[in-house]
Amino acid sequence: MTIAVFPGSFDPLTNGHLDLIRRASRLFDQLIVAVGQNTSKASVFTPTERVAFIEANVQDLPNVKVQIESGLTVSFMRQKQATALVRGLRNGTDFEYEQGIAGMNRSLAPEIETVCLLADSQYQFVSSSLLKEVARFGGDLSNLVPPVVAAALVDRLESGRTRD
Ligand code: ADP
Repeated sequence: MTIAVFPGSFDPLTNGHLDLIRRASRLFDQLIVAVGQNTSKASVFTPTERVAFIEANVQDLPNVKVQIESGLTVSFMRQKQATALVRGLRNGTDFEYEQGIAGMNRSLAPEIETVCLLADSQYQFVSSSLLKEVARFGGDLSNLVPPVVAAALVDRLESGRTRD
């Protein structure tokens, strides 16, 4: 049985993330979406809120679990006996970034393989950071995020509140 982990900040979940989750869930026996904190990004939604957004949208995928992860991804993966680390690539910038992380992870845990899936062309421009910028100015995001996320973005960002 092959267990994969898809780590990320998911702040918040986008349709691009969801597409990747669906596609990865078909490649592995079990997929754990690990919601973590990217230390170089301030978050708008709490880890619990981010998990709830994902759980609400993977109900039809029985082999997908969502968990909060706060340490090193490879340590979490070893605990779970996961051997594949899934990430998404939208463009060359993602590639360079992922290449660095994958190299470090390989050095820390050579038994873990990073598997990068190419973003679907319709989501290549979709990033949580850009969506938050657009939401702050009241832009319509309903075709880029699930409805529960669109509502939460309006509620959180249009009223000017942020959280760690
Ligand atoms: P992180 O802060 O760890 O990069 P993100 O939530 O921004 O977390 O992204 C998690 C993963 O999802 C990354 O591998 C990223 O490249 C991928 N990803 C983000 N947006 C998309 C998208 N639109 N299509 C495919 N993959 C994506």
